[in-house]
Amino acid sequence: SKAEDLVAELIERIKKSDLNAFISVNEKAVDDARRFDEGKLSGKLAGIPVAVKDNISTKGMLTTCASKILHNYIPPYDAHVVERLKQEGAIIIGKTNMDEFAMGTTTETSYFGVVKNPFDKSRVAGGSSGGSAACLAGDESVVSLGSDTGGSIRCPASFCGVYGLKPTYGLVSRYGLIPYANSLEQIGPFATCVEDLAILLEVIAGKDERDSTNSGKDFNSRDLRDVGRLKIGVIREMSGNEDVMSSFNEALEVVKKHHEVEEVSLRSLKYALPAYYIIAMSEASSNLARYDGVRYGLALDRLSNWNDYFSEVRAEGFGDEVKRRIMLGSYALSAGYYGKYYLKALKVRTLVINDFERALSKYDLLIAPTMPSLPFRIGELADPLTMYKADVNTVPINLSGLPSLSMPIFMRKGLPVGMQIIGNYFSESLILSFAKQLE
Ligand code: GLN
Repeated sequence: SKAEDLVAELIERIKKSDLNAFISVNEKAVDDARRFDEGKLSGKLAGIPVAVKDNISTKGMLTTCASKILHNYIPPYDAHVVERLKQEGAIIIGKTNMDEFAMGTTTETSYFGVVKNPFDKSRVAGGSSGGSAACLAGDESVVSLGSDTGGSIRCPASFCGVYGLKPTYGLVSRYGLIPYANSLEQIGPFATCVEDLAILLEVIAGKDERDSTNSGKDFNSRDLRDVGRLKIGVIREMSGNEDVMSSFNEALEVVKKHHEVEEVSLRSLKYALPAYYIIAMSEASSNLARYDGVRYGLALDRLSNWNDYFSEVRAEGFGDEVKRRIMLGSYALSAGYYGKYYLKALKVRTLVINDFERALSKYDLLIAPTMPSLPFRIGELADPLTMYKADVNTVPINLSGLPSLSMPIFMRKGLPVGMQIIGNYFSESLILSFAKQLE
């Protein structure tokens, strides 16, 4: 019984690991592996261990969003992507650690503690899907799923030296993804090579009527092809520090061997970061109103009046970063300030969309460094604003809804660096074909 032993070994390794990449492991994974050995599991991912971010609902399995307020929550249903994994014979190995409600860039806001970077354990694995990236770099899963609202797949992929894709908005159903900012986020795949990533994307993409923003479009991994000579735009407004730029420029030399490369300027991008945070926090403040300590999650024995109970549960259940965002989001949406902040941010969003549309009518693909720096030391980003600024290259993609892949390029100081490849809506096969050529 081969798969059974392998999966049992993997679970042992996860339990002993000091990376803290998992919040929970699936004790039934060994049974699934046995079913595979008996020839009872079939499909595109038959017998393949997949790790799933802990904000993606799994029937009968803890789904905490790395928050105290959901520390005991077991969903009664599967997310669309989890149904698809099961239909294709995948083995869900466990649920991965993340920033609380996916709010963060380092996985330091997790109620369950920080995820360590497998390349240097004094550094972060990135966030918010830190566990989903670290578990691949640390050989604790084969592929994994994350979610990306403003960079949460691409940042940890970059910091952990793996591939991570934020799909086109609407390609992958969000049914069963516990929402942070609905208009920005997508579930997406992590893998250690383009081919694995493409197969996982094929499985999770496609029609689902339970998400009204789902496009109904499929992705086919067999569409990967020889791309020939392309026109590539290097985004001037997305850069990085010296280490990152020296790695990126080395990668650029490789790209230039196959393609025509030019610099392109998207001037609205300098307003993208504040616009993103206003929109994300506004949506978050509304989404998180549902955690009232009555229907599920954290409950308190104290029986005061309803308003006090509601406040007490939330005071105890949410961490500082989540509270900060609920307050700022509520402020931005309040009657007197709506026009000044939220509406302004939406206008910037339109400018960003138009800038990308212009650039992508001239270039086949756009490239840039994923993160402006190497993985941070644990505790390095002491104030929230410094943390938000680290998202400067990733958030414009979510404002526009475009797809973007982060792929590992040349390491610096023993640490991974990632390059972002951005394409037009639903051009995932072109992006992945281009990445495969550089692999
Ligand atoms: N770091 C960004 C934020 O905190 C993005 C997080 C994400 O993509 N979920 O909002």
